[in-house]
Amino acid sequence: YLRFRPEMMKSLVERTELEAGLRLAVDAGQIAVHYQPIVSTRSGVVVKVEALARWERDGGIVPPAQFIPAAERSGLIVDIGTEVLLKGCAELKPWLAEAPERSLAVNVSGVQLQHGDFAELLLAVARNTGVEPRQLVVEVTESVFFDDDCHVIQQLTALRNAGVRVALDDFGTGFSSLGRLQGLPVDTLKIDQSFTSMIHTGDETLPILSCMIAMAHGLGLSVTAEGVETAAQVDYLMKLDCDSLQGFLFSRPTPGPGLQSAIARSNHAFAALRGERVSGPR
Ligand code: C2E
Ligand code: CA
Ligand code: CA
Repeated sequence: YLRFRPEMMKSLVERTELEAGLRLAVDAGQIAVHYQPIVSTRSGVVVKVEALARWERDGGIVPPAQFIPAAERSGLIVDIGTEVLLKGCAELKPWLAEAPERSLAVNVSGVQLQHGDFAELLLAVARNTGVEPRQLVVEVTESVFFDDDCHVIQQLTALRNAGVRVALDDFGTGFSSLGRLQGLPVDTLKIDQSFTSMIHTGDETLPILSCMIAMAHGLGLSVTAEGVETAAQVDYLMKLDCDSLQGFLFSRPTPGPGLQSAIARSNHAFAALRGERVSGPR
């Protein structure tokens, strides 16, 4: 037995309204994509951008935390994910075509990988938009590996065989079975923002952070730190040999038309932190 409480009805109605609204938004093309630059510590410039979904609703923007869970529950994430991929490839193709080491990362939910042939879909989008598969990165969270799902592993393996790279997002927040990490089809670890935010002054001793980076390198993986907001965090992460940095210190996610200047600003911000000079527009 479950006693009925009026709040139950309220949350059910809210949930249904959110899902119905989201369905209409997907059909009406109201899912937009913003991009956040990722700086390589080795080359000192932006070599990757992450595509992040936005819902443009009533003149405002609904952040993904508010609609991605509903999209996953209702299965709409499949359409949203495809839209983000298509728009991302189409908008970023000119930037990607300028240098082979540049790449575009998209977030992929377990729901997309569990059903149908996601690998084929992604490769078809790459073909149709003229983007090289080796310039694409799929970001998945540890939860996609929970059930030892062979289909998911097959999809990721097929993508990697075609040159696509796989990043493990929010690393350190999930089950983090370190023993399994070795066998997973993954190229990069994205260290969750909660670890980056442990760096305040830069004088801390943070063995978890240094071990995570050393372990990733030992496994042949590259490391991106998420949520970089301060110069002290940049210094600390660079001393640990972190490969790339992403965060508001360089740039917030921006719509496609503002991306070129966001990239230039990020390059300048990094160079300024390293005490170097960069040519080109600010
Ligand atoms: P995520 O994949 O971990 O993306 C990084 C999030 O951290 C983004 O939030 C970004 O705006 C935020 N962020 C970046 N740098 C900083 C920083 O320096 N400080 C702080 N406080 N935050 C920072 P956003 O765009 O709100 O996205 C939230 C989450 O929604 C994403 O987390 C991802 O899990 C999910 N998401 C976004 N777009 C998609 C999508 O197209 N498909 C799927 N499946 N999930 C998506
Ligand atoms: Ca991500
Ligand atoms: Ca993340």
